[in-house]
Amino acid sequence: MTLTRCDVCCDVLDGIDDGIVYDCSKEVHYKLGIEHICEDCLNGSDDLVLTNPAPYAYVVEIKGDNYE
Ligand SMILES: [Zn+2]
Repeated sequence: MTLTRCDVCCDVLDGIDDGIVYDCSKEVHYKLGIEHICEDCLNGSDDLVLTNPAPYAYVVEIKGDNYE
């Protein structure tokens, strides 16, 4: 089991029972310093949006660069 920490609320989640943690794009990591974000924090964010570039691959991007 892989444990991943949300870089926003610092909760540690296992990706299954405790909640989902999404990977952020390099741009998000560079600009905001966030590598991983949980579903709750993502839903509460106005700046970040979940994209689906490939089947079963989800990446968090900064809203506005691609969605304006
Ligand atoms: Zn979080």
